[in-house]
Amino acid sequence: MIKIYNTLTRSKENFKPLNGNRIKLFVCGPTVYDYSHIGHARTYISFDVIARYLKYRGFSVFYLQNITDIDDKIINRAISTGKDPLDLAREFEAEYLKDMESLGVENVNLYARATEHIEEIKAQIETLLEAGFAYETDNGVYFDISKYPDFGKLSNRKIEDLNVHRISPDSNKRNPEDFALWKKKDKELVWNSPWGAGRPGWHIEDTAITEEYFGPQYDIHGGGLDLIFPHHEAEIAQMESASGKKPMVRYWMHTGFLNVKGEKMSKSLGNFITIKELIKKYPPEVFRFFVLSTHYRSPIDFSHEILEQSQNSLKRIYKFYETIDKLLNTEKPNLREFSPDESSPHSYVHETGENQEQFNRLIEETRVKFLEAMDNDFNTPLALSLLFDFIRVINRNMQQGTISQKTLQEIQILFNDFSNILGFNFTSTSKNTNLTEELVDLIVDIRNKLRKKKDWELSDEIRSQLNDLDIILEDK
Ligand code: AMP
Repeated sequence: MIKIYNTLTRSKENFKPLNGNRIKLFVCGPTVYDYSHIGHARTYISFDVIARYLKYRGFSVFYLQNITDIDDKIINRAISTGKDPLDLAREFEAEYLKDMESLGVENVNLYARATEHIEEIKAQIETLLEAGFAYETDNGVYFDISKYPDFGKLSNRKIEDLNVHRISPDSNKRNPEDFALWKKKDKELVWNSPWGAGRPGWHIEDTAITEEYFGPQYDIHGGGLDLIFPHHEAEIAQMESASGKKPMVRYWMHTGFLNVKGEKMSKSLGNFITIKELIKKYPPEVFRFFVLSTHYRSPIDFSHEILEQSQNSLKRIYKFYETIDKLLNTEKPNLREFSPDESSPHSYVHETGENQEQFNRLIEETRVKFLEAMDNDFNTPLALSLLFDFIRVINRNMQQGTISQKTLQEIQILFNDFSNILGFNFTSTSKNTNLTEELVDLIVDIRNKLRKKKDWELSDEIRSQLNDLDIILEDK
């Protein structure tokens, strides 16, 4: 039984979908006004693995994400760059999708743009107005927070903490904390509505989209920790008021922050690294490994040193997988060629009937423990540590004799399953990582030969071009 930590109840609960084995999963998507950074990537990789695991467990998952393509940040950026706001949003949406693809985040079934759901947004506002949960002023339409006493139930915070909505310049609001459902505007990007031209508020975009595709109640809603208050509180207030049905969402899941020196990585603080910058330096799987080495709810501190460690750890898995793969693809393997562990160059593999059983048991135990770890609120760090325990034991055992093809196949199946769940591709990435290293070695070799021939011009050019790729050569 899968257990999920539910922010709403602050406890781990047995997971049971509302509708048989079909799961409706919604995760707040990006506001597309700039390149996405690796803090965003942390959240989306975490939910990618959650979706992968739920599918592996036999559920059918409909994973929906919105794209916030209308927002003051987009408009301000468009004004400062002289672009059309929608063109700008499309440009960064395309970059976001490219980033997700390169990170192997591929389980979202539908990306829904806010600007393509204006009718649904207006309809939900209309419902809230008719039921008396919202009211109109000269500046817009607002949600009346005094009509929803449950506000704060997700975050366990009080309405008085709600400072962001207080800064609204609209002095005609009934309560300072009331938030905008529709903002009346006459310039930049506007749509007509029964309340005049304007733009939707941020919170209503998500509930209009989820109502359209999921209805008023669904299984899982996710996002980063920063969205709990007030964004997700506002979503609950809107949807539960509009539909009269509670709870809007069964399980609320939130990812911890990716921090730099203890501070949340964010565009406004300027301490961010874009996904594009990062994957110029490290294979995307290394970043995925780094993300999954910490539980999704815990904060994770980013540094290049930790990423180097992740790279080394991941190489151990690739190396192991490669050894197994080579042994499987060699008809009569000269086992002494295949050293599973570089520290023991004379190791070889062997399997008698007795330890075949031992291997089978180990494989089965590892599978069971891995699934238990993932069942327990997607404990990826524990799941990864089990892989290393397994590799250690097999490497040790490989030194004792010949291993049967059957056991090798079982190990490969086990690792293929794990790599699918976690979103790695041990076969291709191990080759890619090695290929990159081999290519760099080759280029450095050629350059050394050029230097011997005193072709300084070409060798300097190679160095400078490698430099552009962040590969620094020092001639000593
Ligand atoms: P935004 O485009 O800022 O709305 O962010 C998109 C998603 O990324 C939201 O779920 C945020 O909570 C999440 N996010 C933003 N910054 C970070 C961070 N430093 N660490 C983890 N998640 C983040």
